[in-house]
Amino acid sequence: MVKSLPFVDLKAQYARIEADIRAGLDRVLAHGRYVMGPEIEELEAALADFCGAGHAVTCASGTVALQIPLMAEGIGPGDAVFVPAFTFVASAEVILSLGATPVFVDVDPESFNIDPADLERRIAAVRLEGRLTPRAAIAVDLFGRPADHPALAALCARHGLFLLDDAAQGFGGAIGERRIGAWGDACATSFFPAKPLGCYGDGGAILTDDPDKAHIFRSIRNHGAGDDRYDIVRLGMNGRLDTMQAAVLLAKLRIFEDELEARDALARHYDRRLAGAVRIPARMPGARSAWAQYTIRLGNRDRVKTLLQDAGVPTAVYYPLPMHLQPAYVAYASGAGACLAAEALCNEVLSLPMHPYMTSADADYVCDRVLDAVAKASAEAA
Ligand SMILES: *Cc1c(COP(=O)(O)O)cnc(C)c1O
Repeated sequence: MVKSLPFVDLKAQYARIEADIRAGLDRVLAHGRYVMGPEIEELEAALADFCGAGHAVTCASGTVALQIPLMAEGIGPGDAVFVPAFTFVASAEVILSLGATPVFVDVDPESFNIDPADLERRIAAVRLEGRLTPRAAIAVDLFGRPADHPALAALCARHGLFLLDDAAQGFGGAIGERRIGAWGDACATSFFPAKPLGCYGDGGAILTDDPDKAHIFRSIRNHGAGDDRYDIVRLGMNGRLDTMQAAVLLAKLRIFEDELEARDALARHYDRRLAGAVRIPARMPGARSAWAQYTIRLGNRDRVKTLLQDAGVPTAVYYPLPMHLQPAYVAYASGAGACLAAEALCNEVLSLPMHPYMTSADADYVCDRVLDAVAKASAEAA
């Protein structure tokens, strides 16, 4: 029998928390404070508490959450911001939108995350060239696996760079006892519906331990207002999260830890069944992934993807093209060498269905179909 499985199952999650979500939305409808209502502060306290950061500042999207800290640092024309070549476009977009220059850094082929050794090389190359000032680096916790934050923190401190963690996919992860959100000078996350912690529209948050930075982030989020809302002290924007989305997130945060465990159990199930046939995701010792994606590597990727589609197993290619080869960004490809690991990954990666509500039988169905498809594709190629 051919099944038709979802890639992410938001309906199963809703069935579990419907009463809590509806009660939260009813409270917002009753008080009517749709912008900056009391749920915003409640959510910010809960997010900071969850990840052990001093402050959380909610905002309109993950992209805005990346942009605000860079604005607060005064990053603009003439500044170099280092960003991995293998990531979602938003990580690089915010740099360019501030008039700064993205400098693409290659990734580690095992973790898919920014390679600290290559970052060091590219900082040196920018300094040597002397055209741009190295100002900041963006670490992305791609697919949920934490970047090498201890190494990156030391490196950025040594070079005087502001370190921003793009945890749109990584929120919920940890290295040792320290959760994502508490790494970097600031951390940005996204509540886009398909992220590990998602709302029912767009949303995001910035986390930081620094009370002065948090104060500036809040000001930028609200049109650059000072202590009086009509006293405009800096350039800002309308970057606020809606109260309704905060109510949704409060309900989802209550089950998040349990969902993270279910994601991890599914990842281990995939590991057990698929190791040997494909390259399963490597783990950083002592780190915990939020499993935004479970991404395998294989030859014949496109053929395997088609065979899986025919068998009712949806998959996704994140990402088919690295940032430095995207038409709108190719002009910023660094002279300090190509990003060969990122380019190779784009031809090999395949993300399998990943969500906390997959049954063990469905996980086995996915694995059986992957094993069949890999065998068939390699027989065809022989
Ligand atoms: C989703 C995502 C973003 C952007 O988040 P939005 O809420 O969609 O703006 C940024 N970076 C990464 C790595 C993402 O996956």
